[in-house]
Amino acid sequence: MLITDLPPDTMSIRSGLFEAVPRNVIVLPVLFEDRVKAVIELASLSTFTASHLAFLEQLTASIGIVLNSIEATMQTEGLLKQSQQLATELQTQQKELQQTNEQLAQKAQQLAEQNVEVERKNQEIEQARRALEDKAKELALTSKYKSEFLANMSHELRTPLNSILVLGQQLGDNPDHNLTPKQVEYARTIHGAGTDLLNLISDILDLSKIESGTVSVEAEEVFFAGLLEMVARPFRHEAENRRLSFEIHAEPGLDRSCVTDSKRLQQVLKNLLSNAFKFTEQGGVRLSVRAAEGGWSEDHPILRRAASVVAFEVADTGIGIPHEKQRIVFEAFQQADAGTSRKYGGTGLGLAISRELASLLGGEIQLRSEPDKGSAFTLYLPQTYVGPAVANISVTEGRAAQSSSTIQLASVSAAEIPAERILDDRDQVQSGDAVLLIVEDDLHYARAICDLARDKGFKVLVALRGTEGLALAREFHPTAISLDVFLPDMLGWTVLNHLKQDPGTRHIPVQMLTLDEGRQHGLARGAFSFVTKPTTPEGLDAALERIKAYASPRRKKLLVIEDDPAEQFTIQELLGCDDIDVVFADTGTEGLMLVRTEQFDCVVLDLRLPDMSGFEVLEQLRDTPSLSDLPVVVFTGKELSSEEDARLHSLARSVVVKGVESPERLLDETALFLHRVITNLPPEKQKMLDRLHRSDEALVGKKVLVVDDDVRNIFALSSVLERSGMTVLTAETGREAIETLESTPDVAITLMDIMMPEMDGYETMQVIRQNASFRRLPIIALTAKAMKGDREKCLEAGASEYLAKPVNTEQLLSALRMWLHR
Ligand code: ADP
Repeated sequence: MLITDLPPDTMSIRSGLFEAVPRNVIVLPVLFEDRVKAVIELASLSTFTASHLAFLEQLTASIGIVLNSIEATMQTEGLLKQSQQLATELQTQQKELQQTNEQLAQKAQQLAEQNVEVERKNQEIEQARRALEDKAKELALTSKYKSEFLANMSHELRTPLNSILVLGQQLGDNPDHNLTPKQVEYARTIHGAGTDLLNLISDILDLSKIESGTVSVEAEEVFFAGLLEMVARPFRHEAENRRLSFEIHAEPGLDRSCVTDSKRLQQVLKNLLSNAFKFTEQGGVRLSVRAAEGGWSEDHPILRRAASVVAFEVADTGIGIPHEKQRIVFEAFQQADAGTSRKYGGTGLGLAISRELASLLGGEIQLRSEPDKGSAFTLYLPQTYVGPAVANISVTEGRAAQSSSTIQLASVSAAEIPAERILDDRDQVQSGDAVLLIVEDDLHYARAICDLARDKGFKVLVALRGTEGLALAREFHPTAISLDVFLPDMLGWTVLNHLKQDPGTRHIPVQMLTLDEGRQHGLARGAFSFVTKPTTPEGLDAALERIKAYASPRRKKLLVIEDDPAEQFTIQELLGCDDIDVVFADTGTEGLMLVRTEQFDCVVLDLRLPDMSGFEVLEQLRDTPSLSDLPVVVFTGKELSSEEDARLHSLARSVVVKGVESPERLLDETALFLHRVITNLPPEKQKMLDRLHRSDEALVGKKVLVVDDDVRNIFALSSVLERSGMTVLTAETGREAIETLESTPDVAITLMDIMMPEMDGYETMQVIRQNASFRRLPIIALTAKAMKGDREKCLEAGASEYLAKPVNTEQLLSALRMWLHR
């Protein structure tokens, strides 16, 4: 754009020398690729010529290019700078990164070092742990060796002692009256010394067993009334003889029972009582039980937390214990005064054992005593056993728990906490209630019977073990008992036997739950009826209905089939009483007619009748389904030929046949089947029964097999058994025993030693039981080895009963009587 006529007021052009107003101005756009890059404005004092214009035109074109390239260069330069800047930034960042990296590496290094350290430490710990483990193993092994050693030692000591005791007693009794009084005295001294030695061995064994933790606690419900009675009984006589008062007291309002190990508790109480009597000359002894709120050591780990605590106290008015001796009397072999030991005898182990037992049961013993005034030992126990106390503290001021390590070992056995229990009605039972005791270890089954029985109007008691069942039966005298044959601690047969031997429980109808094979056996032993397992609800229902009807108060009916009037009179005199009706039948026909029309509970049958023989009557009864369960007692004065005897026994498969030979036995047998309450019988009849049960009549002529590898024992046992009129067979090995049994069918009972070389007693019993015909042969296991679980092992192997060696003669005979009574 060319402007020629510029107004005069146009801005003048100035230089150093002049100032003039331009004449022409030219404005030129600088283009590059049609975009204006710049505008050049030129002023001129003269006019622009055409060549000027052409030149300028060309120039602007090149200027456009130059400008553009300058611009591009500048841009590139800017970018370059930028990128350079970024690069430096990157570099610094990289540096920083490198630094952190280095730091990290350093840390990692440290960590690794620490790791190594930790690993080293770990290894050390592991080593220590292993060492500890080894030590523990060693310890366990030593303690195992120790208890095994003790058990074996006790076996070795007791085995010869057994003969000394048994024979000493025999000589002392002087049955043949051929010893001089002096010789008898010697024999008694031998027996007495042997007994002392035996007690000492048992005490030492006891103490070390508790210390090594091999004593198990079998917690069960223990009823105070029964317990006090039981522990007090042996002392009554002594109290009377020595004119000491003996008081037994249970606090009113105290619960009926506690849960603990009854045997151990009895052991402690008996020991305290025997001390009390030993150290008391005048005054008396008092045994009491109460609920306790305090009085035990405050920091006792179990009593402190127990929901309730019971205190058994044995107090005497004897010589007392000086204060400074009150701690040491609890130590083994310690007595208050060396002098007393001479005067009073004893070993000083009793209290040590009691203290250990108390802590095993989760409690403790406290002592208060004043010289010449008397002593009071109090045993505190949690009402429900929870496990042993870990630290044990005894005397009032607390003693060093020096045996705590051994006690801790003992806690291994604490797992044996009372088993699950079904809620039964034991707290609501009142006199006059119909009560059914269910002895059954299968919880589901027990619950099912429970429900059914409650529907029928029974109150129920449930025992899961045989011992508990027996305790409940003695405590509550239930109306009826439902008894399973397979129980964890003993066979139902054994429970039945015990029930039927105890005058207090003998009359209670017992319904056995079993497979059919034991039926005849059970009926003969006084079981009321049988329910075959598995049962249906209807079957159970009917069985309960039957037992209920039977147990409802009514007079029992006895039929006597006997033609001789004199005999009828005697029987009436012998059996008749207010509780039963006796009906007589003179002939077999009349008897059969009567049992078909009326309901009888038991029949007494003479074998010689005018119209038919007793055998025929029996056969007819057997063939009538409704009468096949009717208990029949065969009563005959006739000496049975072996043929007749066999015939009676063949009939016994369907009828209960009794060979009754004496009036006492007739009374006994009929009372059993009529479920008569023995304690309600007139005193002279009770006496008759008592005499019968104590007599050895049941043993006379019976064959007993004595299995023992020690000939001295065989000799000692045989002489006792033969004196009771038994025929003794002997075997020195298990094999021999089995052979003897197989070749002699009428062995009535077996005494089985457990420790025998080659085939031990357990194995022998198992083999014997495999033979169906010996399934119910009573086997009494005898063992001197006193290891934990022996009893269970014996029962498991098939023993009917278990006696510890050396056998006490009386105990052995009473066990034999019990098993052979019928
Ligand atoms: P032992 O009676 O066999 O000697 P114990 O361990 O039962 O052993 O008793 C230890 C000692 O404690 C006894 O010797 C006696 O000195 C003392 N003692 C225990 N009970 C009584 C008591 N009721 N009265 C007086 N002293 C007692």
